[in-house]
Amino acid sequence: MRPSASPRSPRSVESSPVRDLLALTADPRMISFAGGLPAPELFDVDGWRAAFDRALRGPDARRHLQYAPTEGNVTLRALVAARLSGRGMDTRADDLLITTGSQQALTLVASALLGPGAVVAVEEPTYLAALQVFRMAGARVVPVASDADGIVPASLAEVVERERPALLYLVPTFANPTGRTLTRSRRLAVAALATEHDLWVVEDDPYGELRYRGTPLPPLGAAPTDRVITLGSLSKICAPGLRLGWLRAPEPLMRTLVIAKQAADLHTSTIDQAAAAGYLQSSDVDAHVARLCREYRNRRDAMLAALPDVTPDGTQWTDPDGGMFVWVRLPGDLDSATLLRSALREHVAFVPGAPFHVSDPDHATLRLSFTTSAPAEIAEGMRRLGTVLAGARRAIP
Ligand code: PMP
Repeated sequence: MRPSASPRSPRSVESSPVRDLLALTADPRMISFAGGLPAPELFDVDGWRAAFDRALRGPDARRHLQYAPTEGNVTLRALVAARLSGRGMDTRADDLLITTGSQQALTLVASALLGPGAVVAVEEPTYLAALQVFRMAGARVVPVASDADGIVPASLAEVVERERPALLYLVPTFANPTGRTLTRSRRLAVAALATEHDLWVVEDDPYGELRYRGTPLPPLGAAPTDRVITLGSLSKICAPGLRLGWLRAPEPLMRTLVIAKQAADLHTSTIDQAAAAGYLQSSDVDAHVARLCREYRNRRDAMLAALPDVTPDGTQWTDPDGGMFVWVRLPGDLDSATLLRSALREHVAFVPGAPFHVSDPDHATLRLSFTTSAPAEIAEGMRRLGTVLAGARRAIP
């Protein structure tokens, strides 16, 4: 039996051997498909320099260095609201709380909605750092099956009936780690279940604007239910170092979330929000996102083109319409964590898939991110991965 934690002992947090291994990706010879990072050469450095400069000039400069309301910069909220409304999710500035990245929004939601012993349902596999937030909040996390079309509504209905979760967490569009997108009909099915069972649904949507093919789907937050909390971020469409995200939630939940935010950090950086408001007003963000999509589409295609040549027969992978990730399942009982050690020796990195699972990890899975390398480098990285996989197959008697 595990000893019960004393009130003073910190919550136990699993150490991560994979994280230690991935520290090796700092080696300049490494081609890393491991991080979920946007391409730094595509950051609009000049645009942001000008935006910060404007925010620190003129009559408002001092206000931009002062404490400010917890909800966030009114202009920024109005601009984000207009952007969300343009994507089919009718939103007013008051529906939004600016957060320090969408990662903070996850923590705020957990602190507002999860009491001791709460149950959180998640699609499986899912975003690792969301699992960490829910576990740190003391919640019990239960998996819901997902397939190529995202979370399976019948499995969700069964989990809701059995476990009575307080919350369902989803990345419905270009998911991390799988790249999959929840279909329109399943979005409606999830919304109907949420209404019927008073279930909160967290729609985590940092990738929704990075679409490389097909027609955009309405966000889950646009579905006819008042049970959806949508999280968004400038991290993937502008730059993650800004640490600017938002949370869209119905009243009265928003009031609780604002108090949670106040307790966490009073408000997100005033100057960063002011610069972002100025940037969104003066730059052509749609043109920037279109450029990102062109570049990332080429990178995705380079990775998908290489996969058949470098993987053993029977390997399966996703073909994402957008986002940053391809999810791979190797045949048989190959263990991707073991393969990672050989991969790092060949100077190529990926993330083993097991930690993205809640209960029964599939060790033969792995996540490849295609955004941080140009197509030629992706081809070389995939060639190295092929060498590793060929070696692993030879090692199997
Ligand atoms: N949710 C998902 C699904 C993510 O992949 C990430 C970042 N990798 C985040 C949230 C956190 O993003 P942010 O930079 O906005 O905190």
